[in-house]
Amino acid sequence: MSLAGNSDIAALVEAVLAGSRRGLARAITLIESSRADHRDDAEALLAQIMSATGGAKRIGVTGTPGVGKSTFIEAFGTHVTEHGHRIAVLAVDPSSRVSGGSILGDKTRMESLSRNPAAFIRPSPAGETLGGVARRTRETILLCEAAGFDTILVETVGVGQSETTVADMTDMFLLLLQPGSGDELQGLKKGIVELADMILVNKADGALEAPARRSAAEYHGALRLLHSGHADWTVPVETCSAETGAGIAEAWEMIGSFFTMAEDTGRLRSRRRDQARAWLGTELNEECARLFRSEAGLAKRLEMAEQDVVEGRVPAAAAARSLVQALVNTRSRDSQ
Ligand code: GDP
Repeated sequence: MSLAGNSDIAALVEAVLAGSRRGLARAITLIESSRADHRDDAEALLAQIMSATGGAKRIGVTGTPGVGKSTFIEAFGTHVTEHGHRIAVLAVDPSSRVSGGSILGDKTRMESLSRNPAAFIRPSPAGETLGGVARRTRETILLCEAAGFDTILVETVGVGQSETTVADMTDMFLLLLQPGSGDELQGLKKGIVELADMILVNKADGALEAPARRSAAEYHGALRLLHSGHADWTVPVETCSAETGAGIAEAWEMIGSFFTMAEDTGRLRSRRRDQARAWLGTELNEECARLFRSEAGLAKRLEMAEQDVVEGRVPAAAAARSLVQALVNTRSRDSQ
């Protein structure tokens, strides 16, 4: 892919803003590239689309493998597109498809949604670290918004640390469970339950319908013990069936209520501002790390400072200050 040059970037910006799914896919490929010149192009691209971002409902979706995430997203995505929305589905876990026990590749998941012109599905780049995936997913959210997608699902498998990462880039967090007992909720990673703004017990159909309802009531009870809760929002625990479609429309309505609440109370705005601030901090750390790696002398100083701090010879604050001074000195020497 050759994407150097301003005219290429301008064409790509235009394609993304026009809502072209191909243009969007190319733009994401560009931001996923680790080549230094692509990184410059990606920054130029992002700078030009920023004013068109921020308009989507950003929703994290998690649940252990087998709970029915793909089936749910397929049904949910189809429902929202039938109601005039455009939905983008992004996945975050770097290795979930293998380690999560699923043998299906992403191409065969959500088959009908992937053919739907109002939907856009993008799996995680393979072989990436969580940090790398997180940055690209944040940037991908922005690109999808610029391309006119008003609903963005960020999916994760519910077994690792990626849930916190996803909660840090979304407005709302949806936890999918299956029929089971309240004890199971307690057995789930506590942190994940605390992140949830809404819980759906999937597979409420056929013989599982009654158990699903019982589970929802039990989960609801268990949640009251676990969840510190928010003043403006009681986390709903409902049932649905991704297979029959029961409860999907209601889930979409509940999401709507959540966003109305979050906008009215200012929670949405403050959450996004906090996230943006934290993202800057993360990028700043990474940029510093990159600068230190970029020059042998600095890399050596960093290594020595680490040794000094680890072995208790120098306090961390003093080491940090002298490292920054070394960086500034190197930069000003280079620019003379
Ligand atoms: P994922 O691993 O969380 O993405 O789960 P899948 O969507 O691949 O679903 C796992 C299994 O559960 C599949 O065999 C689905 O057919 C089944 N499943 C998913 N949703 C439902 C549902 O609503 N009802 C029932 N009975 N089975 C479901």
